[in-house]
Amino acid sequence: MSTKPIAIIGGGIAGLTAANFLRQKKIPFILFEAGDRIAGLAMSFKDKDGFSNDFGAHFITNRLAKAIGVENECKTVKYYGESVWIDGRSFGYPFGLVAIPRIPLSFLRNKLNFVDKHTPESIADLFRTRYGESLANEIALPLIEAWSGAPSDKLSPAIADSLPKSILKTLYLKMASKITRRAVSCGYNREKPELPSVWHVYPNGGVSRLCSKLAEGLDDSIRLQSPVQEIVVENEKVIAVVVKDQLIEVSAAISTAPANILSKMVKGTNALKGIANFRFRPMLFVNLRFHERNLLPDTVVWFPEQKFPFFRLTEVTRSMPWLAPEGKSIITVDIGCEKNDMYWNMGNEELINLCLENLKTIIPGAQKKFIGATVLKTPFAYPIFLNEYEKERREFERSTKIENLLSIGRNGEFAHRFMEDIYWRTREKVGELIKETASKGKNGNYTVVGSKQLVK
Ligand SMILES: Cc1cc2nc3c(=O)[nH]c(=O)nc-3n(C[C@H](O)[C@H](O)[C@H](O)COP(=O)(O)OP(=O)(O)OC[C@H]3O[C@@H](n4cnc5c(N)ncnc54)[C@H](O)[C@@H]3O)c2cc1C
Repeated sequence: MSTKPIAIIGGGIAGLTAANFLRQKKIPFILFEAGDRIAGLAMSFKDKDGFSNDFGAHFITNRLAKAIGVENECKTVKYYGESVWIDGRSFGYPFGLVAIPRIPLSFLRNKLNFVDKHTPESIADLFRTRYGESLANEIALPLIEAWSGAPSDKLSPAIADSLPKSILKTLYLKMASKITRRAVSCGYNREKPELPSVWHVYPNGGVSRLCSKLAEGLDDSIRLQSPVQEIVVENEKVIAVVVKDQLIEVSAAISTAPANILSKMVKGTNALKGIANFRFRPMLFVNLRFHERNLLPDTVVWFPEQKFPFFRLTEVTRSMPWLAPEGKSIITVDIGCEKNDMYWNMGNEELINLCLENLKTIIPGAQKKFIGATVLKTPFAYPIFLNEYEKERREFERSTKIENLLSIGRNGEFAHRFMEDIYWRTREKVGELIKETASKGKNGNYTVVGSKQLVK
């Protein structure tokens, strides 16, 4: 095995899982993180008034907590529920939707096979065939469009791969949740089975605890504020990375940077050219703090009607009351946008007022109960599966085409993945990488370039 370190690009859960795994195997690595702290999208915040929040992820599983070694530092989440808001009313998701007769009727009509079952060409096509016109046109497709910012007939049917497939399985898990009084995880796992014994937990100190645990003892190999500028490839192999204008020889690179950014970072090959056009959906998250609890009908409420600027509200304190002081709550508003569009460029105060104005019909007296808010923005919230680059996406799903370059994690894999899946996938992929590198012998065929100042 080469004594040159492996470069890990990014200190979110994917990069830290890779680092932790390499340390267990005693393989040298350097993890480069662009920001001034680790955790990435799994960052947690706590304010002076006792409100806590996480950037993206809130719901993790006891199985992940156990794998990382923080299961004894977690609280059990007892309840998790989702609803859909239509015509000023909420309906439990998915089973409450049977109360809108046209939805079960068009669903049943499809199931009874009255509708042509061709190979779907877009997510619009697939949802209409799978769920019936009513559920597809009124709920599923408007939500997909708000979430991705693209017309549903231009989106790949592969989006459905990350959704629960069996209604009976969903029913079984929801029943298990009721009986055990634990929020049994449903729709959060693809890599390992969804079981009644896998439920949501929350680490004391926030979701970022997963990352700080993974990073324990790795300080010597983590470099903060060190964005990787280039990944140098020679003869279709990674030989070095450029950080702070320094060329550092490496035996392999494991990137968690967004796939389209990776394509621009890699120099000396055209192998990743096809992924340069992959697009991500930027998102704004407005975290509103309120007096009173249980202001929404459920933990997560979906809004398919386009009259709202948001498509989802999450009252995280419905599931995890400890995130706010007694009698208070936090509601996160998700607004899909484009970089530099009207929402992206809005000032925080204007955005908060927009949210409060639109909450009036959902939470009576919202303005009076309002305490304060913070706004978070990310240009890389969700991968957009456009049909125009579906062929390249499928190829990239299989490999980067450079044998010692891995692209892992949510944005690295260009896939809508939750943290537990990222954890298992990363361990498996890094395991394969080191097996392959070892089987190719010491230093492989890498050219020795030596550490030197890069002349620009
Ligand atoms: C709104 C939202 C809600 C979510 N909810 C959940 C949930 O409830 N449960 C769940 O399990 N998951 C959830 N997720 C998903 C989860 O947050 C992510 O899957 C996970 O945090 C991604 O980790 P990552 O390491 O792949 O990427 P990231 O966390 O994005 O980390 C990548 C890191 O790489 C760094 N980086 C990028 N480029 C460079 C460079 N050139 N050089 C050095 N460093 C670089 C970045 O600064 C960043 O720190 C949610 C995601 C979103 C957006």
